[in-house]
Amino acid sequence: MEKILDLLIEIQLADDEIKGTQSAIHTIPSKIDLFEKEIQQATESLQERQSRVQEIRKTYKMKEGDIAENESKITKLNAQTFAVKTNEEYRAIINEIDFLKTENTKIEDTMMNLLEEEETLKATLGKAESETAEYIAVRKEKLNTMIAEKEALREKLDATKACFEHAFARLPDAVKELYQKIKKVRGNAVCLIEDQTCTGCSSILTPQQLNELKKRNEILTCDNCGRILIYTDPDASP
Ligand SMILES: [Zn+2]
Repeated sequence: MEKILDLLIEIQLADDEIKGTQSAIHTIPSKIDLFEKEIQQATESLQERQSRVQEIRKTYKMKEGDIAENESKITKLNAQTFAVKTNEEYRAIINEIDFLKTENTKIEDTMMNLLEEEETLKATLGKAESETAEYIAVRKEKLNTMIAEKEALREKLDATKACFEHAFARLPDAVKELYQKIKKVRGNAVCLIEDQTCTGCSSILTPQQLNELKKRNEILTCDNCGRILIYTDPDASP
């Protein structure tokens, strides 16, 4: 009986470890998801800034083209002023030239703003690039650690399950059944006694119950929660 009681303690410990390992494994995917999301967001935010620089350059070139186009229109209009026959025609051409010049001034203002924006972006882009690279590297390392941790936990789980099965197989059939029945209802089947108390439900044991339990010659269950109660000598080394 002594052996069976010790075996039951060993089995319960393995069972607890299995549960703990399983719940640790369950928390990992959401952590991995979080790191992956953070990496994606950082990459996208940097790409946005990089593509804004390219966009500015493209727009700037287009504006340069617009100015050149207006300039050539102005040159042509200027040439036409020599061939006009009426004042009205002359004024119309001058008005057109003035309009184009005003347009070009507006375009030049826009271009100045674009240059300023590009400068500001470029001044911070290098730093943003190195910061993003560092940010991503840290998360990738954490991801790899997580993946390795998950793998290690899986291995531990398999090993603990094997220990459990090995120990459980050594129990008499009736005790196996009892263990499974209590586990199904209570989550855990075996409880140690601490300070004359059932560690499963905290109910206090009578001195008589305690005496019976101390004998360790049969399997006794808690009157209150039904779990198997086992007395271990507090002075004995574990
Ligand atoms: Zn109890």
